[in-house]
Amino acid sequence: MSVPEYEPLHADFLESHVYLTDVERAFLATQRAFLESEVAPAVNELWESAAFPHHIVRPLADLGVFRPGYAETREFENSAVFRGFATLELARVDASIGTFVGVHSGLAMGSIALCGSDAQKSEWLPKMAAGDVIGCFAMTEPEHGSDVAGGMATTARRDGDEWVLTGAKRWIGNGTWADIAIVWARNEEDGNVLGFIVPTSSPGFTATKIEGKYSLRIVQNADIKLDGVRIPEALRLQEANNFADTSKVLRLTRLDVAFSAIGNAIGAYEKALDYAQDRVQFGKKIASFQLVQDLLVKAQSNIASALALSISVARMRDEGRQEDKHSSLAKLVVLNQMREAVAWCREILGGNGVVIDYGVIRHFADAEAQYSFEGTREVNTLIVGRSLTGHHAFV
Ligand SMILES: Cc1cc2nc3c(=O)[nH]c(=O)nc-3n(C[C@H](O)[C@H](O)[C@H](O)COP(=O)(O)OP(=O)(O)OC[C@H]3O[C@@H](n4cnc5c(N)ncnc54)[C@H](O)[C@@H]3O)c2cc1C
Repeated sequence: MSVPEYEPLHADFLESHVYLTDVERAFLATQRAFLESEVAPAVNELWESAAFPHHIVRPLADLGVFRPGYAETREFENSAVFRGFATLELARVDASIGTFVGVHSGLAMGSIALCGSDAQKSEWLPKMAAGDVIGCFAMTEPEHGSDVAGGMATTARRDGDEWVLTGAKRWIGNGTWADIAIVWARNEEDGNVLGFIVPTSSPGFTATKIEGKYSLRIVQNADIKLDGVRIPEALRLQEANNFADTSKVLRLTRLDVAFSAIGNAIGAYEKALDYAQDRVQFGKKIASFQLVQDLLVKAQSNIASALALSISVARMRDEGRQEDKHSSLAKLVVLNQMREAVAWCREILGGNGVVIDYGVIRHFADAEAQYSFEGTREVNTLIVGRSLTGHHAFV
């Protein structure tokens, strides 16, 4: 198969694509061609019916989309900047598909890559990269979202060579159909948070789809119950000894969410720009009106500055300088900007902006879940505030 040429995105105003290598550009071009031909045509219908397109999992694996990809793992050569672009390109076509990949490849594979032993990495990561095993990440609980680090109520009790997991998890993306769940639970003995690779076929594990969700509708989110699930010590993540280890994963995936939100906003911006060039009112294309240009420029300005900030943090990651405060700052600033940008894009389509056939309402609604997960604006503000002042102000 011939490799399509990488075409820089119109919305990449500051030409951040110059940081990509030729190999990375070729990968992105192939991924984009697949997404545009196999995902884009069906995505509004999938969104409306809240159905997941299982048939794209294998082709995405074959393309090489599933990998932790973090420089820290040293198993993959691609840079964090490349990973940002790959994430952005997925969400540009559909943020739910981007979130599916983010959960499987970032949160689940990332947990094993960053917190697993060498034996666990070599056992699970190749199968997950091949799409033979799909993962989810079970941290949030019905009663503990923002305060999950201190409040986590799911328990892990050691019983000989096994652990017994008991509790409930909420909002778990891919949770209804994943093969394994990375479950975070509090050690009954010393109170530390531990991580476990839990096969979802384990007795006592049940997952129920959350219905009535009007953001990222294609992602299958689950309520999970763990009723005395027995897991061998060999499936405990050997390098996850407390919540600080869990945070290593979130430090990385929070930046993924920033890139994903930028991709989602670019999807809305491209549709709004096309619409404005086409739609005629008062005998003129609406793109020629100053006030419509103002909306387009505001959306583009937010996208350009969000991308510049995210690329900066990605480069810090590649240089080993990224800390929690950097990904939290990126997540909170970028998500604010993207939430504004999708609203301006929706406005440009007038009434058609709320009709699913035009697609922009999907990007608009999907930005809302992105805004709230991987730390709300408030929680990320408190993380950055703590780094500025030295004062912990969560309660
Ligand atoms: C579509 C979707 C997918 C998700 N996928 C996953 C997943 O795959 N795995 C997973 O583990 N989790 C997942 N989550 C959960 C997500 O991370 C949580 O929703 C998020 O952390 C917020 O928790 P909460 O919803 O319980 O809100 P709460 O913590 O109850 O917060 C409610 C409000 O109170 C504010 N608030 C809370 N504490 C403070 C404070 N100290 N100061 C000021 N304001 C505060 C919050 O910012 C928010 O505005 C997902 C969520 C959604 C919506």
